[in-house]
Amino acid sequence: MPFTALAADLDARRATHLYRQRRIVQGPQGAQIDVDGRRLANFCSNDYLGLANHPDIVAAAQAGAARWGVGSGASHLVCGHTAAHEAMETRLAAFVGKPAALSLATGYMANLAAVTALVGRGDAIFADKLNHASLNDACQLSNAAFKRFAHNDLEQLERLLATTDARRRLIVVDAVFSMDGDCAPLAEIIRLAERYDAWVYADDAHGFGVLGEGRGSAVGIDSPRLIYMATLGKAAGVAGAFIAAEPVVIDYLVNTARPYIYTTAAPALLAEAVLVSVDLIEREGWRRERLNEHIATLRAALVSTPAQLLPSHTPIQPLLVADSAVALALADGLRDAGHWVAAIRPPTVPTPRLRICLSAAHMAADVAKLGADLAGLLNGHVK
Ligand SMILES: *Cc1c(COP(=O)(O)O)cnc(C)c1O
Repeated sequence: MPFTALAADLDARRATHLYRQRRIVQGPQGAQIDVDGRRLANFCSNDYLGLANHPDIVAAAQAGAARWGVGSGASHLVCGHTAAHEAMETRLAAFVGKPAALSLATGYMANLAAVTALVGRGDAIFADKLNHASLNDACQLSNAAFKRFAHNDLEQLERLLATTDARRRLIVVDAVFSMDGDCAPLAEIIRLAERYDAWVYADDAHGFGVLGEGRGSAVGIDSPRLIYMATLGKAAGVAGAFIAAEPVVIDYLVNTARPYIYTTAAPALLAEAVLVSVDLIEREGWRRERLNEHIATLRAALVSTPAQLLPSHTPIQPLLVADSAVALALADGLRDAGHWVAAIRPPTVPTPRLRICLSAAHMAADVAKLGADLAGLLNGHVK
């Protein structure tokens, strides 16, 4: 058997509760989701505003397919860049308060594209230890010196900045940390960047649409040093990502970023869908209000349980547990009670946890039931 070593690796993962498998979903995202023949309350989607199946966005995608067809035909630099892509970039830049923007097919690619284009050999990256895997991969691929600081430890970041002799210095952070739900202190990080002549790359995959009245984590931060990135498959409910920055940065990425240049443009119908999604994000503040009510409800339900939620005011509400087996047992218990919550384990995170995601799609009763059922399980399971 040529693949014995791979099979042994998978067996080892099973034995340590780290084996992963996919569950098959039978319908669109929503507060309830059909999975493996059951209907469950969905607490693991990043569809924070309940837009992934919004009828106006679906209609825009359908009309987009009728107008543009399905395939985009080529990369943006050949013949794949349509007026729909261009309009989406203009709208997104204005919405987040930046002079220019560039759209990419996924957030993972956006991070690879930007970081590898902006820094290389002779340069240095200063990265938070809890950054998303796609940022870590991008930093490694860039060939720049890759210096990591403890989570949100600005004193350590400053010491690193003060002692570098690198030509270009790029600070790289999640604006909202995807597995902890807390935020980077962006304003202070920008001040350090100014003091030490660095650039800041902030990945706002989980803040765009949710924080800053939908405009994201960097709203009100007016610095040309900030290169802002957000994804469009989470709160925006569609797919893709964008980078918003000074025009010279965007122009440089168009000319040099390999994951941008050597890939087929995303279908224009998605750009049409994003344009409608941004209108809804801007107009429908009630979605964020309802989400914030749900966050408060869940946190109140779990104040006196043996395991505690991490301090987070975002829709990502993680509950840390002692080991992966406990995380899986809790997720199984919740599934028996009709809830779908993801157990996130190493190596995705250092400490196993339940990662509860709340959405404006939920009803107050959905969240209250989750809180009550989880409190009951914790009082039974966790010492
Ligand atoms: C989801 C995520 C990405 C990747 O975005 P995709 O569009 O899903 O590829 C990047 N960064 C962070 C912080 C994320 O949570």
